[in-house]
Amino acid sequence: MVDQEIPIIVVGAAGRMGRRLVALTEDTENLRLVGAVEYPGSEYIDQDAGRLAGCGDNQIRIVPDLAQCIREQAVIIDFSSPRGIEDRLRLARQKDCAYVLGTTGFSEEEKNRIRQLMEGGRFVFAYNFSVGINLLLTLAEKVARILGDDYDIEIVEMHHNQKVDAPSGTAEKLAEAVACGRNLNLAEAARHGRVGQVGKRSRQEIGIHALRGGDVVGDHTVIFATGGERIELTHRASSRDAFARGALRAAVFLAGAAPGEYDMRDILGLGKAL
Ligand code: NAD
Repeated sequence: MVDQEIPIIVVGAAGRMGRRLVALTEDTENLRLVGAVEYPGSEYIDQDAGRLAGCGDNQIRIVPDLAQCIREQAVIIDFSSPRGIEDRLRLARQKDCAYVLGTTGFSEEEKNRIRQLMEGGRFVFAYNFSVGINLLLTLAEKVARILGDDYDIEIVEMHHNQKVDAPSGTAEKLAEAVACGRNLNLAEAARHGRVGQVGKRSRQEIGIHALRGGDVVGDHTVIFATGGERIELTHRASSRDAFARGALRAAVFLAGAAPGEYDMRDILGLGKAL
């Protein structure tokens, strides 16, 4: 934590996440929005970022290039697209800016390149910034370890009807967490959406099921079931604020951190990532 106001730059400022990041930054005492970026050609260039976010004019004009608003030691929060990421990271390193990267959709090769470019800088790169989900990952791993082989583990996720991939990346992370807790090899243990004559369930299985419908932002439940009882750990995201608040928490952490790459579990003090 630092005492002074932390300068924040939001990349993708006109997007669904970007608008919430702008509004919540304005709403948070020790943070100050100093820049807002969209892609060149966006219809939102030159608009007031605060007005667009619904929190009132803040005199921060949306610019088409990070270079136009970057300043030394700001924290850049990027929920945009993979396009142009390398230039933004290079610029961030030149200006000693910390980087909170929430954009998804990078290939393994691109992720490695991103890490190379941020070497020596302060950096958080997470596919889920929700505080609750990161806590759930830790709890699910612990509960799986404590309960051991006597409990069957099933993971159920539900998302809105526009989601194109299944299961969610978060359900996969939860599966990794419980597999780690139970010392199972996930590639062998995972059973996706059983159908037909699949035979009796073995204790070594981890069932993973994806439901789709309506406007559900994201529900995840991990079920531990045995004879006579079951335990269910559930997280429900009801708005994108869950991710935006986590990203702002990461920004505050990075502002006072030593150089390095951190994940949400470091930031929340939940111990080592899986
Ligand atoms: P969105 O499409 O509503 O917003 C993205 C915004 O970024 C748009 O306004 C777009 O014009 C802008 N943009 C695109 N390319 C840009 C560039 N090169 N430079 C500047 N701005 C650019 O999408 P969204 O729902 O806000 O999500 C944005 C990204 O964040 C996606 O990759 C999404 O998967 C990811 N996301 C991550 C988390 C998480 O917890 N890590 C949570 C929600 C969304």
